[in-house]
Amino acid sequence: MTVLEVNNIETYYGAIQALKGVSFQVERGEIVTLIGSNGAGKSTTLKSISGLAKVKKGAILYNGQDITNKQAHETTLMGISHVPEGRRIFANLTVKENLLMGAFSVKGKAVIEERMENVFTYFPRLKERMNQKGGTMSGGEQQMLAIGRALMMQPNLLMLDEPSMGLAPIVVEQIFEIILQLNEMGITILLVEQNAYQALSIAHRGYVIQNGEIVLTGTGKELAENEEVKEAYLA
Ligand code: ATP
Repeated sequence: MTVLEVNNIETYYGAIQALKGVSFQVERGEIVTLIGSNGAGKSTTLKSISGLAKVKKGAILYNGQDITNKQAHETTLMGISHVPEGRRIFANLTVKENLLMGAFSVKGKAVIEERMENVFTYFPRLKERMNQKGGTMSGGEQQMLAIGRALMMQPNLLMLDEPSMGLAPIVVEQIFEIILQLNEMGITILLVEQNAYQALSIAHRGYVIQNGEIVLTGTGKELAENEEVKEAYLA
């Protein structure tokens, strides 16, 4: 069953065309990664799906339903959570308050508590630091908080934009381990990474994006072994 179908989308920032007809699919239960260099259009692709960037042409289907240019809060309510590049947590709010912001539409204290406990099973550190200001957490902890906040909506599709950015290798390992666990719990993952080697090692399938176009696709293993990919992204 196809969770996400992106059909030939074109997205512009003013006169700059960032996406020049991007197409790909994500099947239920998959981890799919989108790899590519700086400025290739990875973030814009995620923004186009979640409603943070306006799509000029093409269509995006989610569980068969047309969601092209729906607003970000609508796609979130439909089960798509987007963890943006750079984490964007609320620096002056505590860990707990940040998590509560993630559950903006969830009604009922008990349900919210239960979801928070569920987040803590993946990220025990967040429980220990519940009352610490988000901005004083380490880079890895902030990434955990950003993912935890997204999990508060119990997403069906979790989109992660460069979760490994700026983190020490051991912390990257932990984050990727958690992404695998989330996937095993049934969450479909769309992962954008510059860290192609790590991303391909956990992905079922991947797509290479270059100058706003998909230029290559294959299983994680196929792409990791592809000579062009090795040369351009795994050097
Ligand atoms: P990075 O990893 O560096 O974020 P990316 O693959 O995610 O790269 P995008 O951020 O999607 O790339 O950018 C795609 C293109 O769109 C680039 O040429 C970029 O300069 C341009 N772009 C992105 N955001 C904006 C913006 N707000 N205004 C104008 N141009 C933008």
